[in-house]
Amino acid sequence: MIAMAAAKLGYRTVVLEPQADCPAAQVANRQIVAAYDDAAALAELARLSSVVTYEFENVPVAAAEELAHSVAVCPPPMALEISQDRLTEKRFLNGIGLATADFRAVDTDEDLAAALQAFDGSGVLKTRRMGYDGKGQRVFRNARNGDLAGTFQSLGGVPLILEAFVPFEREISIIAARAADGTLAAYDPAENVHRDGILHTSTVPARVAPATVTAAQSAAFAILHALRYVGVVGVEFFVLDNGSLLVNEIAPRVHNSGHWTEAACTISQFEQHVRAVAGLPLASTARHSDCVMENLIGDEVNRTASLAAEADVMLHLYGKAEARPGRKMGHFTRLTRA
Ligand code: AMP
Repeated sequence: MIAMAAAKLGYRTVVLEPQADCPAAQVANRQIVAAYDDAAALAELARLSSVVTYEFENVPVAAAEELAHSVAVCPPPMALEISQDRLTEKRFLNGIGLATADFRAVDTDEDLAAALQAFDGSGVLKTRRMGYDGKGQRVFRNARNGDLAGTFQSLGGVPLILEAFVPFEREISIIAARAADGTLAAYDPAENVHRDGILHTSTVPARVAPATVTAAQSAAFAILHALRYVGVVGVEFFVLDNGSLLVNEIAPRVHNSGHWTEAACTISQFEQHVRAVAGLPLASTARHSDCVMENLIGDEVNRTASLAAEADVMLHLYGKAEARPGRKMGHFTRLTRA
């Protein structure tokens, strides 16, 4: 989607990705088929590029840092580093004055028992690194210490974080952007519903008070400013019943909960990102329609024909070869009111 937006502005794109004929390569000018940490491939990418960006936060930080020696890398590798580790991310957020769920680092079954006791037996245990779409997570409700033996090993023996369970009223996210000159812009927040830890729908406008919208935008801007960020960011929030916000996580990239912008705004998050990293002025984030974006997961992609027959539906399929369970195959955005 970034490559398509770049092409619309006359730029050419090269994609570095280990899987040949990946979705981005189908619409880019060239693909380098290699691992993200392949030194020769990174050197080739740097040689061919004026600016390098990423759309997946588990790209190795070392690869982004290596590239940054010879070519502009946006967003900055620091943003990748912070968002790759849930513990580092929460400390960063708290450090710039943004509230998150209460949390404890968990490296042993004993740490887990102590942390759960501190949170009255309830919480969400997550791997610190490489987790997405609810993978590597376990929810505890009224857990007793006797139930916990072996939990640490069962999640792979990797560093974990226990978050206090947040009794949120709803979840929202903000897609915001910062240009190299410090200019900021934010789209309206989307209200997100997850199923099995995977984003199901994003609805705009979100059912929140104007003060909550302002608070979410201010939080996103504080993150962008603190990181001297260039590009688009996605910030996910829990909304509590008094309207206050906790930041759940930062995605240093265009975000699934911002896909609706391609249908309901003049300029999408993808073009906004290209503008930011290419040094063009940021665009207006104005929205011309209300909408609901829904992901097509696994064999839901079989709904294509009926969705294509509907008026006011913009369909976007990713060109993935195989519809495995839990795999995002595409999405559609239904305009609900112009
Ligand atoms: P994450 O991968 O951290 O975005 O988590 C996926 C989803 O799990 C979130 O969007 C929430 O719906 C739920 N979730 C994650 N953390 C918590 C928490 N601390 N309290 C309640 N629900 C959570």
